[in-house]
Amino acid sequence: MKRREVIRNLSILPVAGAVFGSSLPIESFSAATPAEKAPKRDFFKELGVTPVINAGATMTYLSGSLMMPEVLDAINSTAHDFANMYELQDKAGAKIAELLKCEAAMVTSGAAAALVLGTAACLTGSDREKIEQLPSLPGPQREVIIQKSHRYVFDQAVRSTGIKFTEVEGPDEMEKAINPNTVMALFFNGALSWFGVPDSITHEDFVRIAKKHNIPTFIDAAADVPPVENLFRFQKTGFDLITFSGGKMIRGPQSAGLLFGRKDLIEAAKLNNSPHECPIGRPMKVNKEEIFGMYAAVKSYIERDHQKEWQDWLDRIKHIAARLEKIPTLKSETVINPGPANALPGMIVKWDQSKVKITPKEVVKALLEGTPSIVAGDRGDALGIGVVLLRPEQVDIVAGRIKGILEKAVV
Ligand SMILES: *Cc1c(COP(=O)(O)O)cnc(C)c1O
Repeated sequence: MKRREVIRNLSILPVAGAVFGSSLPIESFSAATPAEKAPKRDFFKELGVTPVINAGATMTYLSGSLMMPEVLDAINSTAHDFANMYELQDKAGAKIAELLKCEAAMVTSGAAAALVLGTAACLTGSDREKIEQLPSLPGPQREVIIQKSHRYVFDQAVRSTGIKFTEVEGPDEMEKAINPNTVMALFFNGALSWFGVPDSITHEDFVRIAKKHNIPTFIDAAADVPPVENLFRFQKTGFDLITFSGGKMIRGPQSAGLLFGRKDLIEAAKLNNSPHECPIGRPMKVNKEEIFGMYAAVKSYIERDHQKEWQDWLDRIKHIAARLEKIPTLKSETVINPGPANALPGMIVKWDQSKVKITPKEVVKALLEGTPSIVAGDRGDALGIGVVLLRPEQVDIVAGRIKGILEKAVV
């Protein structure tokens, strides 16, 4: 635009303001700007998507968790400028590593992507040719050691790099299984929570045996905060790579996660990731805003008053229990999941189904199909209610809805 045109265009503004201003109703001259007055655009409504109250746990299908205000701030305030993604990943990673007291860190598009990238790092190191060849490295198929009871749905992320698993039970089998094709050893920290089967190799033995043979170890602890100490625990044990989800209780972006640990492996994982154009991780891009957001989430999570947060969760359970107290035969109980995965307080509610004629399953259905829609858990003979993902004002809404449904069923 030429200077003269700029001046001309600028000169239109006051005139246009005066024209529109004169036709506006009187109240528009009040303190509120038109933007504030306009009804907020409701995207849920616009697309016909049902907003859901999550009285369950962090579940991917239910959009994980709600981002902390600090995370939303980070996303909004960084959206208006470009950044060099290599620089951002390096600098955000360095800060996160400092927070986590480990050598190096990076933001991935979730824990599942971290499993891919961490394994890729162990397969390729910084060898560009190998990075391009994945998942079809020439030569014998590489192997990853895993305990038999640790095989799980997310191990496909590890297999997608072209490796095959060698399943072992106990330290002796692990030691014997290590061979020249072994590239990594994977530990699924939540296996006990998921399957109820104790680990056949302790964390310490696992790390010790692998180190003796120079095999990098990787631990998946995706859902394993709280306690916050877990964010620091596994690097102390000596694991080389560690992953946590961003979109679970850390309350960062759902499509973000952490991979951290040994510096050379994190550097190799970065080489296997976007914005490099050819590696296996190119489709696992995390945008600039989410990288800033994940950094903000980690910082906020570490700085949070965890005792207060825990007490608040217990108080929520107490509040719901008090509102349900008068329902005949009803018994509610606070249950603390011992972890390692999802170690959170929750609530179990039971009643005599001959006196209150409705099954927990039917209550779950009624909660889901009512307005607002509420997701709760059906535990067979009991109703499971999670409180940690409720917004404060939703606690009473959940209590009221359950109360209403049960009261109607009293015979
Ligand atoms: C949730 C979860 C993942 C996947 O995490 P995302 O961040 O959703 O990619 C991997 N492993 C375990 C044990 C999990 O619980």
